[in-house]
Amino acid sequence: MEKLNIKKERRRKYYLEHKQIALLQSYEWRKKNPERYKAINKKSRLNNIEKRKKYEKLRYWANPEKYRKKTRLWRINNSEKAKEYHKNYFPKWKSENMEQIRQLTKNRKARLKGAVGEVTLLEWKWLKEKYFNLCLACFKRGSEIKLTQDHIVPISKGGKNIIGNIQPLCKPCNSTKSTKITDYRQI
Ligand SMILES: [Zn+2]
Repeated sequence: MEKLNIKKERRRKYYLEHKQIALLQSYEWRKKNPERYKAINKKSRLNNIEKRKKYEKLRYWANPEKYRKKTRLWRINNSEKAKEYHKNYFPKWKSENMEQIRQLTKNRKARLKGAVGEVTLLEWKWLKEKYFNLCLACFKRGSEIKLTQDHIVPISKGGKNIIGNIQPLCKPCNSTKSTKITDYRQI
């Protein structure tokens, strides 16, 4: 084991010192040993399955519209497989992505009301953190109350559904504000 670590460490050092050469050598080795490379690649893919899943999730939610279009097409061309998938995997996927789905629903509702724009879950999380998870009107904590996305300029008055027009308010404060234009970020 010890010996192996020394070997590994030596290899790492060599790699850092000779990065360009190493890259080229590894490229040439891959070209000469395609089968072995495939096998190694497969092994590492299996080992990193969790990492990959996380990465794919991030990539998906960064641009859900793009991937949903792709999925729609795939579903049309693979209707049997799609049915199977929906039955076996969709419920799990749904429960794992509830927060994201809720955000998409919010965006859809805003769009139906005629608002332009879109708020991502990441932006909303960032905004809450920026204001220390407080309701900007009553300063109650997000852990005691549920923070909601208030449109500063209400959609009914032409407000956009973008993060710049959103402030975190608790439900009661959001209802009190109703369709008034009150920017608590400035107060
Ligand atoms: Zn409040």
